[in-house]
Amino acid sequence: MMELGSLYQELILDHNAAPRNFGKMEQATHCVEGVNPLCGDNLVLYLRVKGDVIEDVRFQGSGCAISQASTSLMTTALKGKTVAEATQMFEAFRDLVTAETSDAELATKLGKLAAFEGVKQFPSRVKCATLGWHTLKAALDGERDMVSTE
Ligand code: ZN
Repeated sequence: MMELGSLYQELILDHNAAPRNFGKMEQATHCVEGVNPLCGDNLVLYLRVKGDVIEDVRFQGSGCAISQASTSLMTTALKGKTVAEATQMFEAFRDLVTAETSDAELATKLGKLAAFEGVKQFPSRVKCATLGWHTLKAALDGERDMVSTE
């Protein structure tokens, strides 16, 4: 667990300092805003989906380090994935940070994203870590405006 803990810290520091795929996307096919009022996190997620494949993903927004880093890492994991694969990743990530016991199979499936399992120790931050993912799910489900964790 110590190793996972330090990887978690490192990823958060790194992705918060230099978020990947950050900025507005022209010609997005999906654009949804996600907010977490409890913490004050907000973001706009842009997707360009062609056929069944997520060709590009970007985000903009502001919030705590956990929400920024989690969304940044999510964008790096999604490019080139199919909509079905992205939905599976959403479910796996949600289960990873909310399940009471750890699940080695889930962790393997998620790769680097599994480092966020550490957030389980801080239940109030789970919504920060999942905000980007819930926004993704809403976008893929056809939501067009805004989703809130509350
Ligand atoms: Zn937050």
